[in-house]
Amino acid sequence: MEAGAFPSDQYAMDSQIRHHGLDPKRCLVEVALPDDRDEDPTAPVLKQIALLGERLSVVMLGAVHYYTGSFFDIPSVVEAAHRVGALVGLDLAHAAGNVPLELHAWGVDFACWCSYKYLNSGPGGPAGLFVHRKHHARQDLGRLEGWWGHEAATRFEMPRDFVPATGAQAWQLSNAQVMAMAPMRWPWNSMTEPAWRPFVTNPLH
Ligand SMILES: *Cc1c(COP(=O)(O)O)cnc(C)c1O
Repeated sequence: MEAGAFPSDQYAMDSQIRHHGLDPKRCLVEVALPDDRDEDPTAPVLKQIALLGERLSVVMLGAVHYYTGSFFDIPSVVEAAHRVGALVGLDLAHAAGNVPLELHAWGVDFACWCSYKYLNSGPGGPAGLFVHRKHHARQDLGRLEGWWGHEAATRFEMPRDFVPATGAQAWQLSNAQVMAMAPMRWPWNSMTEPAWRPFVTNPLH
């Protein structure tokens, strides 16, 4: 991961590594980035990927660095990481709603983001997550599972065993707040559908 990442990312990586019974001090490599945001932030990442080679497991980056505003060249990172058999995960907190993203086409393995920055939802707004389609049916992935990740059709039967929902939904832990989700519904013009009319008089203003 990049050095100086947002604390949540650092804590998440440290704790994930510990969950795997490993020591973050030995297993987490932090790549120093140039201070000047006009300098290419991706080159040091690509260099480190090449250095680690097949010892590398996951590349985790804030796609747009939250301090410098640098936007990594994600397709190059994905290509380099996949070449050595590593996954790529992105924190899109400063990218979602800010820069064009083609997560699927770029082959990003997973990503998550908050909606309270460039998507303007306000503190406590819903988070989003992406899991590449090629991983959806995998049975070998460790996953923290919650009831909202269960297949929707049978979720309310309260079954003893987890049957994953199709897609990234399987990674959901719990339900989202309806009032916070409502303004994020996309496309905006769907808000003129009958179900929304009582709440939205003029969705474009
Ligand atoms: C703001 C921010 C977060 C925090 O997101 P929460 O949804 O509040 O946990 C995570 N990563 C980066 C890079 C951020 O800027």
